[in-house]
Amino acid sequence: MHEGTPESHFRRTASMEDRVHAVQSLLDERGLDASAGVAPLDHLATEEWLPKNGARVVARAWADADYRARLLANGRAAIAELGLPMPPHHRHLVVLENTAAVHNVICCTLCSCTAFTLIGLPPDWYKDLEYRSRVVRESRTVLREMGLDLPPQVEIRVWDTTADTRYMVLPMRPAGTEGWPQDKLAALVTRDSLIGVARL
Ligand code: FE
Repeated sequence: MHEGTPESHFRRTASMEDRVHAVQSLLDERGLDASAGVAPLDHLATEEWLPKNGARVVARAWADADYRARLLANGRAAIAELGLPMPPHHRHLVVLENTAAVHNVICCTLCSCTAFTLIGLPPDWYKDLEYRSRVVRESRTVLREMGLDLPPQVEIRVWDTTADTRYMVLPMRPAGTEGWPQDKLAALVTRDSLIGVARL
């Protein structure tokens, strides 16, 4: 908990561990095997839904102009070409291309939505009320605080994720990477660059 936040509200709520234990106990009492449901999800979250998927998409888009055009036109169809999944409720994937003049950044003002099969589960700061509210109102300041100091002439566009429309930023390709193979290009791409709080 941050220093200075009103803690009285939170003290009425049990710790995360206690709440998990309480839910687990109730499920056990009723003979429902929670672990059996959690294990596959845990596997997906730690082994399958990783930013390296988004990085693969970005590397392909940098290396293949036709693919980039398809990706920008219909993100869902283009990632399916690479065998990458999205849950059915992620009905649209909108890929946002950064340029020298425009920088895109994504958030979910309501909660924590991301294109998690491509970007990975959202980092803690993404779910923080402070990020969710301030990145909309004062994006340039928030990005600067996160280490990305954009020149004033760069326009910043903030995209608010919804349940059925997910976003991924297509970062600018770093200079000096001409002719690199796609796996080497993909290794340059970070989770934060796919969210838009970092450049490469
Ligand atoms: Fe959300």
